[in-house]
Amino acid sequence: MRDGGAAGRSPTTAERTRRLKAQAFGLGFDLVGIAALGPPATRAHFDAWLDAGLHGEMGYLSGEGAELRRDTRRPHAGATHAIVLATQYGGREPSGAVARYARGDDYHELLRERTRLLQHWLEQELGRPVNARPYVDSGPILERDLAQRAGLGWFGKNTMLINPTAGSFFFLSSLFVDVGPDVVLDQDDPFAADRCGSCTRCLDACPTQAFKGPRVLDATQCISYLTIELRGAIPEPLREKIGALLYGCDICQEVCPWNVSFTNALREEAFRPRELVLDAGSREGTRALARELLMMDAADYAAAFKGSAIKRAKLWMLKRNACVVLGNIGTSEDAPALEAMLAHEHEVVREHAAWAIARPHPSPRPSSRPS
Ligand code: SF4
Ligand code: SF4
Repeated sequence: MRDGGAAGRSPTTAERTRRLKAQAFGLGFDLVGIAALGPPATRAHFDAWLDAGLHGEMGYLSGEGAELRRDTRRPHAGATHAIVLATQYGGREPSGAVARYARGDDYHELLRERTRLLQHWLEQELGRPVNARPYVDSGPILERDLAQRAGLGWFGKNTMLINPTAGSFFFLSSLFVDVGPDVVLDQDDPFAADRCGSCTRCLDACPTQAFKGPRVLDATQCISYLTIELRGAIPEPLREKIGALLYGCDICQEVCPWNVSFTNALREEAFRPRELVLDAGSREGTRALARELLMMDAADYAAAFKGSAIKRAKLWMLKRNACVVLGNIGTSEDAPALEAMLAHEHEVVREHAAWAIARPHPSPRPSSRPS
């Protein structure tokens, strides 16, 4: 028998690559591409960003972390290629106080497990072990650069990786593999086009003006950083701009026309919003969640957020965020919960509670409107 996938002969590289991608889709990934490893195209951009100090307190991005990120061959010895995978998390879900990616189960473990299953499939396909390592938003890798290199999309002005058929509400993960000297997989062409064109919607919509220019984000001004990464007081001039956002911010993705037109409905059950955050799309629901956070003790927090990505923020940080939100949208009904925080053990929580209490608090309103 000649070429064509008949029994008794090894598949061609193209056939195996197609089968690997079909397997990835079968496992639940929405996009898949393959990139050869090497220095990232955005390396100079990354260095300039670090030099300007725009990474704030995210020290893991500098020093040794930066050195590893300057060449994707460094994080895992022997790896030659990355299979880059995207999994959508529900860009059509309504806006709310908690960023969409964090409303359901933590994606890290789920996607790592799926990526491992893809590795096992490849090992069975090749009939030998494969030197490989999965990364899910965890390794010292410029993931969006790698995804662009694997053909999954372009680096938008909002710094997100945007795919022309899926928008940007997706998780990126990757399986670093050593494909061996005989190269058993075809790599994809990098995504060459920049389809942002003259659009500046994301830059204009940012409530804190965190973009220093297209693709240059000052993380220290970004609500995602302020509510999740920052281990300290939120600078006072930024608190009002945080509005009703308790955890993360999706605004510069929500306004992107590629998400407006192409983001998809939530399909993955694990990422479906948990009961606790379900009502946090309305002003009253957000206030209720903020009050609930203020009343939580360590046991409540552990139970409420077991297996949730929200646990990246410690309980005192969530209380800090809740104070900011109630300072912005709270009413006199919320005053007792804030006053209780004046005795909190963490100085930052006490100070944010005092700030919130000093803000004007209207009387409760009879009707509910989205925040
Ligand atoms: S996530 Fe929000 S605060 Fe951060 S850059 Fe985007 S719009 Fe601005
Ligand atoms: S909003 Fe416009 S400029 Fe921003 S990432 Fe989307 S297409 Fe690009």
